Amino acid sequence: MRTLPPKDILIVGGGWTGLLLAKELGARTSLSVVVMERGGPRTTATYFEGMDELDYAIRSRLMQDAAKETVTFRPTSKDRALPIRQFASFYPGTGVGGAGEHWNGMTPRFMPECFELRSRTIERYGANRLPANHSIQDWPVSYGGLESYYTRAEQLLGISGKAGANPFDGSRSAEYPTPPQKAMYFSRLFSDAARSQGYHPYVMPSANLSTTYRNPDGVVRPPCQYCGFCVRYGCMVGAKAQPTNTLMPVIARQKNVSVQTGANIRRVLHEDGMATGVSYVDADGAEVFQPANLVVLASWTLNNTRLLLLSRIGKGYDPATGEGQVGRNVTHQATSSVNLFFERPLNRFMGPRPILSRSATWMATTSIMAPSISSVAHTS
Ligand SMILES: Cc1cc2nc3c(=O)[nH]c(=O)nc-3n(C[C@H](O)[C@H](O)[C@H](O)COP(=O)(O)OP(=O)(O)OC[C@H]3O[C@@H](n4cnc5c(N)ncnc54)[C@H](O)[C@@H]3O)c2cc1C
Repeated sequence: MRTLPPKDILIVGGGWTGLLLAKELGARTSLSVVVMERGGPRTTATYFEGMDELDYAIRSRLMQDAAKETVTFRPTSKDRALPIRQFASFYPGTGVGGAGEHWNGMTPRFMPECFELRSRTIERYGANRLPANHSIQDWPVSYGGLESYYTRAEQLLGISGKAGANPFDGSRSAEYPTPPQKAMYFSRLFSDAARSQGYHPYVMPSANLSTTYRNPDGVVRPPCQYCGFCVRYGCMVGAKAQPTNTLMPVIARQKNVSVQTGANIRRVLHEDGMATGVSYVDADGAEVFQPANLVVLASWTLNNTRLLLLSRIGKGYDPATGEGQVGRNVTHQATSSVNLFFERPLNRFMGPRPILSRSATWMATTSIMAPSISSVAHTS
């Protein structure tokens, strides 16, 4: 196995998490930092043309190719684990920018009670309301402790929104850096209906810019063109904040940070409880050792867990005994949605974030909870 010159800090994965950490380390230290990403490089120019709906939205061009590398799944520990051949409930990112390239860009803050779900549930409904084997916990951080970081993140990404639009939001130290996006026709229908029922619809805060914006790093991005190619696509004008258009322009100028693509990390190597680096397979299939003083896993929750287990770090979670921490409570995201049928076309092919074109169907569907523009704040 070939051994490379050592680095101070090695970050596994080049998505929002890994590249943000690299950018901050590059700005605040002179440490040598390498981001190791299994996929290939990308820039905004990658998305200038060829937005093919079949290729991107249905065949998931930007995401992990399950025909080449996948994960296994079993409904219970008694079942045989089988490989997932088509991702559906989650879409792992790959390549520089990771899932942040093809994300939706919906960016509401958690409400303060989300951080105290266990205590608030018990306070309101009593401990008996929670099932015996539940694993609900309060977060170790509070909304107040995170507030200033939310503000920094919103300024970095140029989040569009209106403070106070959701009357149940936590307190804020600053207004959103850009105004809310325009509400599309179908969102207005939804808003009117929700308002008539006593709810408080508002335009979802979004990482899609409503105006030209210069962020604190000096990165300038143009406003959204409402073309409709958002989720599952990269933004062709750079209006949707993505690691490639928001972080990479800064990283590209940092002499102490490098991004290595085509590096599929197989193991974190360690001695006496200390990481010494990683072994990876390069684009030619050769196994390489990259030594480092510090290894950071930023390859997304599921991949981080997998790497820890493969590297024999920590104790794997055993659902039978409830012991072990690695992999415990691993989850992706849970969204519920309600489909409604309309008698007139909603023109959902345009505007921010439609998933698929629905121009050809007269009975269009819209989704209340997740991938839509409006969000509803409940009154009770
Ligand atoms: C379709 C979709 C829509 C979404 N919409 C929203 C939204 O509207 N709002 C919101 O807040 N969130 C949204 N999300 C979630 C959000 O995009 C992710 O939470 C976020 O991008 C995760 O960033 P990350 O850096 O932690 O991981 P990732 O973006 O997954 O980056 C991890 C990187 O690590 C690399 N990697 C993995 N394993 C290895 C390995 N062994 N060796 C080397 N590299 C490796 C991957 O290739 C990848 O590039 C969405 C996600 C998807 C898939």
